[in-house]
Amino acid sequence: MKKLLMCWLLFPLLAFAQLSEPKPDTPVEKWAGKTIMLIGAHADDDALSHGTLALLQAHGNQVYIVTLTTGNVGTQDPNLSRTQLAAIRRQEELAALAELGIPGEHYINLGYDDGLLEFEDRKAVVENLVRWIRKLRPDVLMAWDPGKNYQRWHKSDHRAASYLAADAARAAMWRLLFEGQITQEGLKEYMIPEYLFYNDYDNNDENTWVDISGFVEKKVNAFSKYSSQYGPGWKQYNPHPSGADLQQMKDYARSRITMKNGKAVEGFRYYKGLPDALGK
Ligand SMILES: [Zn+2]
Repeated sequence: MKKLLMCWLLFPLLAFAQLSEPKPDTPVEKWAGKTIMLIGAHADDDALSHGTLALLQAHGNQVYIVTLTTGNVGTQDPNLSRTQLAAIRRQEELAALAELGIPGEHYINLGYDDGLLEFEDRKAVVENLVRWIRKLRPDVLMAWDPGKNYQRWHKSDHRAASYLAADAARAAMWRLLFEGQITQEGLKEYMIPEYLFYNDYDNNDENTWVDISGFVEKKVNAFSKYSSQYGPGWKQYNPHPSGADLQQMKDYARSRITMKNGKAVEGFRYYKGLPDALGK
């Protein structure tokens, strides 16, 4: 009985929480003139958002991709060295971004080792990210979702990247944190006003769905550039994948597209406001 009472007491709270979910004032499909910064752990983490990124770029926004690691570990091909893999991953990411209309100079790679992000010096990584936030001054930060009311399970680098991005967003707004950037480098503190968090496991926290109908082909084509990560190249890298291999990757990309009301969409947890409240 007591349990039942608790349920009834909680119900209005949960209903209110649902109602009070923030929504963008302007639908993402209508955003223009904004600076968008995406922080990911690997070249291809942005692939979950490629439709949205292509749409934003096409609508006159400036999209920047900041990737923390070089991707120099993730392969099953026994013949690739770390150096080779890092070079391949860079070239694949640039090719994917070109497909989306995002210029190569908007790709920033911070050079950390793949697979070990959570063991890096957190202060140094956050300082690095804060510098880029203060330089680019994004209107919107896109990042792995650290979780809403609980820690989301991510694989290691994604888990680290989600918190590093959120921590950097919080730190960037404080004038006296990493103050050398302000007193010596001419940067200014900055508070990011809006966030789009992405994840690849479930859709439970998504509150914003972006209609990517006009950008599906770009998303599919961009995905097919990651031939060292998907298709036969995962086990045996081929710099010139066959037409059949490319088709296999495109089919896979197409099969993973979420449909809502007959439209291709990408889902995000939108958040607005002070980064100190990111977990609320
Ligand atoms: Zn990744």
